[in-house]
Amino acid sequence: TYFLGIETSCDETAAAVFTDDLAVRSSVVASQTDLHARFGGVVPEIASRAHLRNLLPVIDEALARAGIGVTDLGCVAVHHTPGLVGALLVGVTAAKALSLALGVPLVGVNHVAGHVFACRLAAGRDIFPCVGLVVSGGHTALFRCDTALSLELLGGTRDDAAGEAFDKVAAVLGLGFPGGPAVEREAALGNPKAHRFPRTFLDTDRLEFSFSGLKTAVLYACHGQDVAKATPPGPGQKRADLAASFQAAAVDVLAGKCKQALRQTGLKRLAVGGGVSANGPLRAALTAMCAKEGAELFIPPLSLCTDNAAMAALAVEKWKRGEFAPPDLDAEPNFI
Ligand code: ATP
Ligand code: MG
Ligand code: FE
Repeated sequence: TYFLGIETSCDETAAAVFTDDLAVRSSVVASQTDLHARFGGVVPEIASRAHLRNLLPVIDEALARAGIGVTDLGCVAVHHTPGLVGALLVGVTAAKALSLALGVPLVGVNHVAGHVFACRLAAGRDIFPCVGLVVSGGHTALFRCDTALSLELLGGTRDDAAGEAFDKVAAVLGLGFPGGPAVEREAALGNPKAHRFPRTFLDTDRLEFSFSGLKTAVLYACHGQDVAKATPPGPGQKRADLAASFQAAAVDVLAGKCKQALRQTGLKRLAVGGGVSANGPLRAALTAMCAKEGAELFIPPLSLCTDNAAMAALAVEKWKRGEFAPPDLDAEPNFI
């Protein structure tokens, strides 16, 4: 059975074709980064309009690359939660229309669970039960994942997501948007010990995160208290040291909390997803930590870390159980 997966939760318009044995036949992602760059972040209304423009061509491309026609589809899957409501609505509406027109089942899947499932896809074998870390521009949370479909929240961020902190620090340092890759490149030139930035909650057992204090610490270290008149620092050692010290703090917290989650749950597998898991030093820290803890680490290749529609293959698990969505499936901005 061929499935079409649709993703429009944030600023990527994506479609993928996969089969009920979890073979991904195509995965097409149209990123809107250029549209949002001059605003320094994702503008919801612009995202919705771009999804409207891009979705049908992206679906056509996914079908063409898979070498099938729309009538070959046996199921339509869509990320319907969580995300920007206007953005999600575009994908959900298209998925409902397609399923109705083709007379095939509709399956709604959780985008965050999809990020964990991307590890299952990349591994090509079962990874459950595991601890899941989803770390992106909109999410930073740890889950106990007994199966692909059962995510029990162990703890999340109290304020900013880690990716959001990367993006905001990039703005403070004048490195552009999206911030993650730019901060990583800049950090490679700097000294991670130049500034001792806060590692919030790392000394407690609670599996929670907070990145807004870290972001503010970078802002003050860069400009002093007089931030109103501040201009970005420009290239040089100061900027590189700030980037490196910020990244070191973020990586310490993320890897440290994963270690605590593994110990507290007694699980021996860690699955990591979301755009921030593209970060090289984070991957290295998680690899070292898991080796020390005797745990197995699953991080997918970059194309499966950032938002994509292949990870909607989680729908296959629901489809096998006959868990189809009603024809009035709604977009749900909050995690359900
Ligand atoms: P959502 O949170 O809803 O999944 P999103 O668009 O924010 O949506 P992704 O596309 O998964 O999520 O990830 C984008 C985020 O990942 C951005 O915040 C970006 O700065 C961050 N990111 C990307 N590459 C890197 C990197 N190399 N290092 C650190 N952060 C990165
Ligand atoms: Mg994105
Ligand atoms: Fe995402």
